[in-house]
Amino acid sequence: MDDLKFGSRDKRGNWTPDVAPQIAPFWTGEWDRIGNFLRDFFWPWNTFHMVCALLYWVFVIPDIETLKTITWGWVLYLLIVNLAGIFLLYGGIELFYYIRRKQEIRFKYNSRFPSENPSDVFWFKSQNLDNFLRSFFIGIPIWTAIEVVILCCFANGIHLFGWVNWHDNWFWLIILTLLVPAIHELHFFFIHRLIHTPILYKYVHSVHHNSINPSPWSSLSMHPVEHLLYFGEIFWHLIIPSNPIVMMFNSNVVGFGAINGHIGFEKLEITDETTLDSHAYVHYLHHKYFEVNYGADGLIPLDKWFGYWHDGSKEADELLKERYRKKKERMKSR
Ligand SMILES: [Zn+2]
Ligand SMILES: [Zn+2]
Repeated sequence: MDDLKFGSRDKRGNWTPDVAPQIAPFWTGEWDRIGNFLRDFFWPWNTFHMVCALLYWVFVIPDIETLKTITWGWVLYLLIVNLAGIFLLYGGIELFYYIRRKQEIRFKYNSRFPSENPSDVFWFKSQNLDNFLRSFFIGIPIWTAIEVVILCCFANGIHLFGWVNWHDNWFWLIILTLLVPAIHELHFFFIHRLIHTPILYKYVHSVHHNSINPSPWSSLSMHPVEHLLYFGEIFWHLIIPSNPIVMMFNSNVVGFGAINGHIGFEKLEITDETTLDSHAYVHYLHHKYFEVNYGADGLIPLDKWFGYWHDGSKEADELLKERYRKKKERMKSR
């Protein structure tokens, strides 16, 4: 597919989309965009996470009696399914688009591939290996442990206000399901802004930012403290009246959904005619410029409200430079 119909490429080969990312239309009153917004909201990613949540509920999570006690059997099974699921999704995209490079650099924001830049900041000098090991052997076990704790709380009726069932509370649970991406954006924005404070950045978040040019395995490549804060989002379901299926949906949005910001391509070519939107650009810009876009796509536009929003345009670049200049002045006057 011709990516120059959708964007432009600079002298270095880096590709930029023609249409800049926009915050959700109900904040700006652009009601004519609502159709496209709703399509992108549901398809394909949130539908994928919801289907996965249902599959987990039916095939992976044991009955409530078993969940009451934490035993190796079901915990290891859940861990293995999480490892396999992430391996298939992240590893699949890595294999086809980064190792085999089936679409070369079409729709790729950064024209270079991480494997072309060996660096001392990574374990074994390899971004891919470092990111894979951190995701696989630290990130996913922490994620699974948090799921185990919450499922055990559910089985034992532990909740600040009480777990609710679908039969009596179906309307609220549908609303809560629709709110999950907003919960994700709120939680992620605030923990992310927190770990960009100087000390936490230096000792914790810099691990994730070693990948300036992220690829799928960068998604969960974090310091364990960041893993705890990031996956800690699922603990909201012990405070908000919820149900384990909605909790698992949120958990998948956090676990599987971390890949979205780190795909590195605007679109993945599935066939000659069909593409999959990655929704990666906003977070790609975060990896490029650091002090912008702490949240996700602008469903709750906290970045816009706090002045951190960067949509890749020249105007946004100027605003960022202005912010840096003011920051320097403030530091000097101290
Ligand atoms: Zn990232
Ligand atoms: Zn960051």
